[in-house]
Amino acid sequence: MESNAVKFCFDVCSRGTVLEGATLEIIEIPGLARCRQCGAEVTIEESYGICDRGGVELDIISGEELKIKEIEVELCA
Ligand SMILES: [Zn+2]
Repeated sequence: MESNAVKFCFDVCSRGTVLEGATLEIIEIPGLARCRQCGAEVTIEESYGICDRGGVELDIISGEELKIKEIEVELCA
């Protein structure tokens, strides 16, 4: 997953704004795919996976996206 890239971008983009110094909390969704050969659901890591029966043709079901859960902002008093 590219959460580090997202965090880096957030740091750059938030600089000089009210969000500067905010904490970005990112949830990485576990990758899930379906084997084309046997139909089994396979948990994948990164963009690679293999099913229990050795199938390598997998259709990605989820895990391509990142969800940003919340942004914590500390405002100066
Ligand atoms: Zn399979």
